[in-house]
Amino acid sequence: MLVLDVDGVLTDGSIFYTDGGEELKSFMCATARAEALSSLGKRAGIITGRRSANCRTARKGIDIAFVAQGVSDKKVALVQVLADAGVKAEQTCVMGDDIVDLPMLRTCGLAVAVADACPEAKEDADYVTEARGGRGAVRETIEMILRAQGSWQALVARYREI
Ligand SMILES: [Mg+2]
Repeated sequence: MLVLDVDGVLTDGSIFYTDGGEELKSFMCATARAEALSSLGKRAGIITGRRSANCRTARKGIDIAFVAQGVSDKKVALVQVLADAGVKAEQTCVMGDDIVDLPMLRTCGLAVAVADACPEAKEDADYVTEARGGRGAVRETIEMILRAQGSWQALVARYREI
């Protein structure tokens, strides 16, 4: 399972406010890789301290079945999400960028920090992406997992045969 923080991981951390007070965020698209992940039977989830409607909408585009928003304790949220998904912590990759992500980074099997994460998140990570949050870090991580599990070449071949 892949569990993602939102601000600073799926996005670059920017939040735009309209005159009406609505929040807007920009999500980097990694659709092909996310589809490959779900086609291999892997689950995906979001755990975020904030709460926003656009987060619910964005997840549909990348097939994220599990969403925990407005979370104050990310470890508690992770345990709940894993229980809902029927997945063990050691089977889970968590991506984060800030100190609030440390509890879930330290709980999972594969901890990933984005390139512009805080130093503490990088220290606790098994892997630090070359890409920054919201700028390809999730895409890079999915590809790394698919490569490590031997699925990447088959995926590329499938697209080349089309
Ligand atoms: Mg964050």
